[in-house]
Amino acid sequence: MKTLDIKITKATTSKLETVDINNIPLGKAFTDHMFICDYEDGVWKDARVVPLDTIPTHPAAMALHYGQAIFEGMKATVDADGNPQLFRPADNAKRLNFSARRMGMQEIPEEIFVEGLKALVNIERNWIPKQDGSTLYLRPFMYADEPHIGMRAATHYKFIIIATPAGPFFKERIKLWAEKQYIRAAAGGTGEAKAAGNYAAAIRPTEIAKSNGYNQVLWLDAHEHKYIQEVGTMNIFFKIDGKFITPKLDGSVLDGITRKSVMTLLKDFGFDLTERRITIDEIIEAEKNGTLEEAFGTGTAVNIAMIESIGYDGGTIHVSDDNPIGEKVNNTLDGIKTGKVEDKFDWMLKVT
Ligand code: PMP
Repeated sequence: MKTLDIKITKATTSKLETVDINNIPLGKAFTDHMFICDYEDGVWKDARVVPLDTIPTHPAAMALHYGQAIFEGMKATVDADGNPQLFRPADNAKRLNFSARRMGMQEIPEEIFVEGLKALVNIERNWIPKQDGSTLYLRPFMYADEPHIGMRAATHYKFIIIATPAGPFFKERIKLWAEKQYIRAAAGGTGEAKAAGNYAAAIRPTEIAKSNGYNQVLWLDAHEHKYIQEVGTMNIFFKIDGKFITPKLDGSVLDGITRKSVMTLLKDFGFDLTERRITIDEIIEAEKNGTLEEAFGTGTAVNIAMIESIGYDGGTIHVSDDNPIGEKVNNTLDGIKTGKVEDKFDWMLKVT
């Protein structure tokens, strides 16, 4: 197969000297370049790395009106020898295409997705923070840029990758609010796609939860408001009486890449793990009888976020923090990403 031809135009100056990449929160500063590819006339074309810049947008660009916009989130790290590498990039490519199908958008060849990431990370390798826990966050996304009023699938799309250095997160245990009024997703809807509109729907309930002293919303099912789905931008795991459980993928939950990696690690550590429907009542019950041993969220941004408590229906569910396995999982994941722990599941892809 012919390798993808990516045209590279280098920025004349770098902003790297102006940013303390080891101490900057994710999303505040952006690297010098971006990768772009256009879908027009039935083909993906003009794959290129160019200096990061604003993009002229027609006011009738369909993404602005009908919301055909999807994205991914992933990270570049360096291995023990200081060489850049990516964590399971083909899985992100597959998920972007899953989202594209659900939103009636064009799929992008996995090769463009992965080679585009490699080309961008290669040129931005000095932007990958070397400090423990810091990474270069990558945001691949696709949107409909065809100027057209009238609801139908667009015929022009842009696929872009941008990158932002992310310093270490302050890892406090998080407080969740189990939401009964608003919902994030219903089976048959778009919850299992990584579609921009899902996040728009979550913003107001999240702001309300934050103003009441919680960190994130714990989403419950759309019909009975009792089955647990996921939390903020993370999937969720509970440890009850020595065994792990996580909500099964029922069409309303995002198929997290950290989730499936954590499932593999927990099984590798010898734990019992089940994917099934989980009610908020059984979590309350486990707290009452002293078997709610641990709960954590999983996602690319933080790996693992340990959960302290869940506010629900006027009460609070307190989660224990004795010997959390989540910390061990977190250290193993970090270790694999930074070459300190053997990559025995073959998750890392070197950027050469
Ligand atoms: N759920 C939602 C809604 C998310 O936005 C994310 C972040 N992508 C996740 C779960 C976790 O997915 P991943 O482990 O692939 O980052």
